[in-house]
Amino acid sequence: MDLGIKGKKAIVCAASKGLGRGVAEALAADGAELTICARTKSEIEQTAREIAQRYGVKVTPVACDVTTEDGRAALLAACPEPDILVNNAGGPPPGNFKDFSLDDWRKAVEGNMLSPIALIHATVYGMIERGWGRILNITSASVKGPIPTLELSNGARAGLTGGVAALARRVVRHNVVINNILPGPFETDRLRSTSHAIAAKTGKTFEEVHGARQADSPAGRFGTPEEFGAAAAFLCSQHAGYITGQNLVLDAGGINTTL
Ligand code: NAP
Repeated sequence: MDLGIKGKKAIVCAASKGLGRGVAEALAADGAELTICARTKSEIEQTAREIAQRYGVKVTPVACDVTTEDGRAALLAACPEPDILVNNAGGPPPGNFKDFSLDDWRKAVEGNMLSPIALIHATVYGMIERGWGRILNITSASVKGPIPTLELSNGARAGLTGGVAALARRVVRHNVVINNILPGPFETDRLRSTSHAIAAKTGKTFEEVHGARQADSPAGRFGTPEEFGAAAAFLCSQHAGYITGQNLVLDAGGINTTL
């Protein structure tokens, strides 16, 4: 399917690897021009070179922390008028509600709620003026099914979801849509590092922990960044003009609800 985004300008945040990279590759494959960011300069530059070479599109790397004002300013300076904005960043750390300070909560809200809202605020009115825009927030399945050890993530990401729900319905008449994509377990460095952490805590091997987590999925496996990217790219496509304010859970049915 032609996604109808050839030549569209896309910002993909937190995209040197993992889910962000999966989305960047899928948009590039359909001819979008990318501005991508991550904090580690060498890695975001390497990813930009690889994507540009593979798909023959322009890819501008920006080394920045998207959860800071300076970082977002650098990103927007590189791409002031995006047609597509994909919000993403690292997730808050796991832990126990009892041990979280208000500062921990503030950091989570800053990184996973306010930073995407700031980027949406900076870009959505231009999209409305130009009559075309696609905004996608990468959140987590934890918004729909709370994960006990990820209370900071459950809370901050649900805040973002609620924070843009009315806006999503207001902007759609201008051919601008805002949606959220909620990953369950996808095979990325982050997922592998959490399996290593569980293994260290429980005395099990990495293979035991990682294997049990895969077996836990109705699919018997983790999702891939390519599968994630393909679904995300559709929500950023020409064809998504009638889809807004939605929360697409990508977890192979791991959250056991009928609706
Ligand atoms: P990953 O493989 O660790 O990749 C994270 C990417 O984000 C890297 O490119 C990293 O590069 C960049 N990044 C992290 N913090 C950043 C920041 N403050 N500013 C700019 N770039 C930043 O992680 P992932 O699995 O793709 O996860 C992406 C998001 O989805 C996270 O919020 C995660 O919690 C969420 N999620 C993932 C899963 C899963 O199963 N993978 C499930 C649910 C939710 P630098 O380190 O160089 O900045």
